[in-house]
Amino acid sequence: MSSEQPRIKIAIQKSGRLSEISLKLLEKSGLQFARSKDKLFWYGRNLPVDLLLVRDDDIPRLLLEGMCELGIVGENVAVEKVLEARKRRPEADLDQLAPLDFGHCKLMLALPENESYSRPEQLAGKRIATSYPRLTRRWLNDNDVEADIVTLNGAVEIAPSLGTADAIVDLVSTGTTLRANHLRAVTTVLESQAALYRGNSKLPSERELLLDKLVQRVMGVQRAAETKYVMLHAPRDALARISAILPGAETPTVLPLESQSDRVAVHALCTEQVFWEHLEELKAAGASAILVLPVEKMLA
Ligand code: ATP
Ligand code: ZN
Repeated sequence: MSSEQPRIKIAIQKSGRLSEISLKLLEKSGLQFARSKDKLFWYGRNLPVDLLLVRDDDIPRLLLEGMCELGIVGENVAVEKVLEARKRRPEADLDQLAPLDFGHCKLMLALPENESYSRPEQLAGKRIATSYPRLTRRWLNDNDVEADIVTLNGAVEIAPSLGTADAIVDLVSTGTTLRANHLRAVTTVLESQAALYRGNSKLPSERELLLDKLVQRVMGVQRAAETKYVMLHAPRDALARISAILPGAETPTVLPLESQSDRVAVHALCTEQVFWEHLEELKAAGASAILVLPVEKMLA
């Protein structure tokens, strides 16, 4: 009886950089929720799949403890929390199902801007402030450096001017915050983006099938976002050259044009980003009437 089966739970960030885009991805994957503004739990209306809205830092633990089946969180947070959990349970791990190509950021080492940097060894014996103590420790260990880590939960970038640290390891996207605090990013500790993770819960096989289907759909939406459908007219004898320019296209469909025997219509699914440069190259190769269309759904 399917009503007695457990419902699938997906954790996403309640409010922050990943919230809107995570929700959109799930809705585009065909999930509908009874939204309730203040609640942390949104009931799935069309499928037995509910949403948990939580702080991003809580998502890895919910997954590790099997309290939800899927979660969308930054790799920076996921890896840090898995390393933390391994202190208690060395086998703790999370299965990353797919990187999602949003929430890109870098965890970087930054120093006061008047200090030069050439290699990690110069950090030996220094104090490094960070909200990512395990990732920082792993990076130091990988580089054979012993340094002190000062764990702070926020305002990491002011630690050097307060004298509580000599350097910091923090998330950087534009560097504006660093500059405002007279710091300079010098090397990358981790490159991160949001990803879809599978929790450690066990499900009955019927639910496991639904979960697989969901993951396929999410990945399909993901792929469709990058994929474009390109249509153009081309000289028949330039076909090989034109096919080679189309980014990530497999064999294009070639159709005759009624009024012209030396030109054909070409339709292709481009699975890599199509830039203006590609269109200019196509034109230079003799293509005309070039159209680039978005792809809404894709099931490969
Ligand atoms: P919460 O209240 O959920 O704990 P938060 O303040 O920790 O929120 P956000 O600032 O919303 O989190 O960032 C969430 C995630 O977005 C980060 O963990 C990181 O993966 C990603 N991210 C992308 N760009 C940046 C950036 N420039 N600075 C910080 N995080 C970024
Ligand atoms: Zn957080």
